Amino acid sequence: MKICRFQPLVFPAKQITSQGPASAEARPEPRVGVIAGDAVREVSGDIFAQWRETDRLWPLAEVKLLPPVVPSKVVCVGRNYTEHAAELGNKVPQEPLIFLKPPSAIIGPDEPIVLTPLSQRVDFEGEITAVMGRRCSQLKPGDDVRPYLLGYTCLNDVTARDLQRSDGQWTRAKGFDTFCPLGPVIETDLDVAKTTVETYVNGIRRQHAPASDMIFPLGVIIQWVSRVMTLVPGDVVASGTPSGVGPLCAGDVVEIVVGGVGTLRNPVVAPEV
Ligand code: MG
Repeated sequence: MKICRFQPLVFPAKQITSQGPASAEARPEPRVGVIAGDAVREVSGDIFAQWRETDRLWPLAEVKLLPPVVPSKVVCVGRNYTEHAAELGNKVPQEPLIFLKPPSAIIGPDEPIVLTPLSQRVDFEGEITAVMGRRCSQLKPGDDVRPYLLGYTCLNDVTARDLQRSDGQWTRAKGFDTFCPLGPVIETDLDVAKTTVETYVNGIRRQHAPASDMIFPLGVIIQWVSRVMTLVPGDVVASGTPSGVGPLCAGDVVEIVVGGVGTLRNPVVAPEV
């Protein structure tokens, strides 16, 4: 099952509210749905608890897909693929090397990644990402994380590489607005150990790796993170990126493809000056 958040593109222009006619710019509240062929079936209730499918069906062409969750935190790991650690001149860590991206950096499918005048080198990093479905804390090594998961999606851990090096810690390099594309949907039935991640820039494949190349599998990362901070429904835990990272320029289109999930596509634009 593929879960999404969306807004209808077409809506009544003359909606009457208790305050009078709604403005033409007013957009309906985000809705949650499941993909049904070339349509989205809207669901009601709480996707993390009780929910059910409604009879409202929206053609995919008539909705804007939003980031599939609104997490309290985005937990990432660095250097989780041997070849990627080597390409940036780093050793493989003995334990997961975690950092956070601010939720304010999240954008959805097709929203632009806005470059920053503060960096001369902004890289893509395609990553497989787990989405938590249940609160989880203090898991033990070997615990099965699957009961705590909602599913998996794609994440682009956009990084100002020059600032990552010069700052020493990574909050600024990883935290600019729009530096966390997420989506397009959450696949609930993925065998993550057998999937792959790919990144394309302007249609040319730049990254490609099986999930089995991860040094720490996502399940181990989630157990490890849960002993540091409580993970709550909607939180995302990204896998780290494989080798092949490279720069993005204004005008590029970057796509992250996780097998069985789909394609997260974002254009890249210059900062407003
Ligand atoms: Mg990364």
